[in-house]
Amino acid sequence: VDSYDFVIVGAGSAGCVLANRLSADPGCRVLLLEAGGNDRHPMIRVPLAWHPASEATRFGWGYDTEPEEATADRRLDQPRGRLLGGTSSINGMMYSRGNRSDYDSWAQEGLAGWSYDDVLPYFRRSETNWRGDTAVHGADGPVSVVRNPRDPAIYPAMIAAAQRLGFAELDDFHGTAQDGFGMPDFTVRRGQRESSATAYLAPVHGRRNLRVETGARVARVLHDGRRASGVEYRRGGRTEHVAAGEVILSGGAFNSPQLLLLSGIGAADELAAVDVPVWHDLPGVGRNLQDHPLVPAVFEASRPLGFEALMRLDKLALSSLRWALDGSGPLGEAPISVQAYIRNEPGSTWPDTQFQVSHVSFQARPWFPGWRKGAGHQFTAAAMQLRPQGRGSVTLRSADPAAAPCIRLGLLANEHDRQAARNMLRFIRQFFATSPVAELVAGEVFPGPDVNDDKAIDAFLRNTIQTGMHPTSSCAMGTDPATSVVDASLRVHGLDGLRVVDASVMPNIVSGNTNAPTMMIAEKAADLLLGRTAAASFASSERPMSHVEV
Ligand SMILES: Cc1cc2nc3c(=O)[nH]c(=O)nc-3n(C[C@H](O)[C@H](O)[C@H](O)COP(=O)(O)OP(=O)(O)OC[C@H]3O[C@@H](n4cnc5c(N)ncnc54)[C@H](O)[C@@H]3O)c2cc1C
Repeated sequence: VDSYDFVIVGAGSAGCVLANRLSADPGCRVLLLEAGGNDRHPMIRVPLAWHPASEATRFGWGYDTEPEEATADRRLDQPRGRLLGGTSSINGMMYSRGNRSDYDSWAQEGLAGWSYDDVLPYFRRSETNWRGDTAVHGADGPVSVVRNPRDPAIYPAMIAAAQRLGFAELDDFHGTAQDGFGMPDFTVRRGQRESSATAYLAPVHGRRNLRVETGARVARVLHDGRRASGVEYRRGGRTEHVAAGEVILSGGAFNSPQLLLLSGIGAADELAAVDVPVWHDLPGVGRNLQDHPLVPAVFEASRPLGFEALMRLDKLALSSLRWALDGSGPLGEAPISVQAYIRNEPGSTWPDTQFQVSHVSFQARPWFPGWRKGAGHQFTAAAMQLRPQGRGSVTLRSADPAAAPCIRLGLLANEHDRQAARNMLRFIRQFFATSPVAELVAGEVFPGPDVNDDKAIDAFLRNTIQTGMHPTSSCAMGTDPATSVVDASLRVHGLDGLRVVDASVMPNIVSGNTNAPTMMIAEKAADLLLGRTAAASFASSERPMSHVEV
């Protein structure tokens, strides 16, 4: 049986960071196991293609949720990347850290080392931000973070309406304030998607102490008493075993709890019900799943929007050529009109709602006169509740490692979240009714003017609410083994040699998109795994390899 110092399960946002940082120590032998394949497909590389890429079955796990009464028994798609880079290879590439108060509240819960001031150096270490080296941004990290162009016909009108409603324009959502309207940054490098695989894995692929296996699906963690001793995985129709000094689960918020449960770590009675032998009774596993409830709306534009013209087949072909030549042009950009973080709920001390407008229809597709029609000129809006009270779960359907886990989201299951959803729809409508944005739209397509009283709005929400696709917290970090899964060093409570490092360890979901926070968690985890303090790590002159150095 092969043996490694570290076996990392999952080459996603977190796993690729770990593979890079741990193998920077030439004395460490590192194995990275990824169930999916490579990330070379053009759909993965072209930023504008992120939406079809996120829906393509060939790149994903194909999960959906269990029917839940509060959301009209719908099964909601839950895209998760199954390839190098994981979900960072199919996501929307928006760069966000959430709010400083998110992390400060983790520290206040007793999780030493996780306040914003503690984690800021790791955010900075991970990025090369277009702003350069500042107090909050890094200038020589692996992840390229770029400025997205503002549409000259749309963005100024959006900002003017926001100002009329009393909001500020922000140049940076990670500066001193997060409240306000502006344009998010994106994880893109020279017009191509920057995933954790392109940023962290590609530059170090040749390291002799790092082995990366694709098509390797881990079935369970092996153990020797209280200590994790390795993993069992399936590859090419064969079952393999590998020994590990330490096993690190980075399978994401659905698969990491599933793997713990398959290994016999979870609520003993639930494990017994699906015939999984209990290794360690830990009831928090798979509980506390959180995501951002998302309310959608669509408005008809009052005049032609540039994006629809871009989708005309001949224009698209030219843009593709331009992109292939040097990565420039609209294929490497995001058609976002504006983004905001606002306080929409009474009593919030930091933004509770993320609001986004895009000048693209959900149904956008290539078109040409005489061939087929385009989707039309529309604005798509979404408001996300950043700190919902609803909690979901990840449980086992069966003891079969190949079976999808049962996912329940708990959306709209409590009055606080229902009220927040109503308020989000009201805010979207108020914004689009405010001049000069009001003049950009000809009418509301979805939900439409008929959806007006509370009863109709509630029915609309039950039938359409989605999530931001930011699942977190299903292996939550915490001090109490009765309710949480890992400690502040990301070690599974009560066991040795086993950690979880991915979006699932967030004690509570952060107030923004989750990719950058997950990479930050992995940056910090690498120090914890190598036994380095943050102070020693940042004082060290020896920097791990990144694009800047190759
Ligand atoms: C459609 C969509 C759009 C999004 N847009 C944004 C955005 O714009 N900005 C943002 O910040 N966030 C966005 N997110 C969320 C963000 O990408 C995720 O939160 C983040 O990538 C999660 O990282 P992770 O490391 O926890 O998991 P993942 O990146 O999902 O990594 C898990 C990896 O483990 C592998 N794996 C799982 N189980 C096994 C196993 N048993 N054996 C071997 N390998 C396994 C998976 O194949 C995968 O590669 C989006 C998500 C989606 C779905």
